Amino acid sequence: MLTYGGCLCGSIRYKYSAEPTAKVLCHCSDCRKISGSNYSVNFLIPEAAFQVTSGTPKVFGKVADSGDTINSYFCGDCGSMMWRESANCGPNKVVKAGTLDGGGEIISAAVFDAEVFTRSRVDWVQPLIGVSQRVSE
Ligand SMILES: [Zn+2]
Ligand SMILES: [Zn+2]
Repeated sequence: MLTYGGCLCGSIRYKYSAEPTAKVLCHCSDCRKISGSNYSVNFLIPEAAFQVTSGTPKVFGKVADSGDTINSYFCGDCGSMMWRESANCGPNKVVKAGTLDGGGEIISAAVFDAEVFTRSRVDWVQPLIGVSQRVSE
């Protein structure tokens, strides 16, 4: 099954052909910055199953506390952050699920594997029941 996504302006489009290997909510302060929201909704997609189908994303690299560089891929025209990569996440694209076509329905139906960086979760967001809670990554 193919899943499609892209940025707000439509310059960058991507697709993937595998089920996510993990679905993770991240409450870290970097995700708060790059999303402009409370936390990020991440689907880990094997690199081999992921393809950019139009446009060329910009990339921003940041060295994390772990010492690994996390590369963030975004549209240079509209600024939408679409996926990240880091050694820590293995050979996966960490897709920001809000950029999927029909993202609302897909996220609504998602069963999550973990919430990470819960130490940074805002007080009025409740932990998901039955989902692994990790203080850091
Ligand atoms: Zn765009
Ligand atoms: Zn994060």
